[in-house]
Amino acid sequence: MGSRNSDRIPIQMRRRKCETVADMAAQGWDVLSKCQACGLVMRVNLKMIAKVSGPATSLWNRKQRCRRVGCTGFIEFQGRAPDMHWHETLAAPSDGEM
Ligand SMILES: [Zn+2]
Repeated sequence: MGSRNSDRIPIQMRRRKCETVADMAAQGWDVLSKCQACGLVMRVNLKMIAKVSGPATSLWNRKQRCRRVGCTGFIEFQGRAPDMHWHETLAAPSDGEM
């Protein structure tokens, strides 16, 4: 009923509507951080980030150091909108922006 086959939307296309953590929180995104070295996965608290770093904070294309003691890896952010079936890395080329 009026719902499009939205799991076929490339995640890059979603970015324009959910650039910031405030947008993502409002739209019910579930975001995880995953370390590419040790595999540590943590759930990201979007509202907490909005409070601490500001609602305009963006997690797209963002890399941070892993927080596990002794790990030198980097984490990447993976997000899932309510109409997506699995988490996808929050990576989108910025040259596609209007
Ligand atoms: Zn790690």
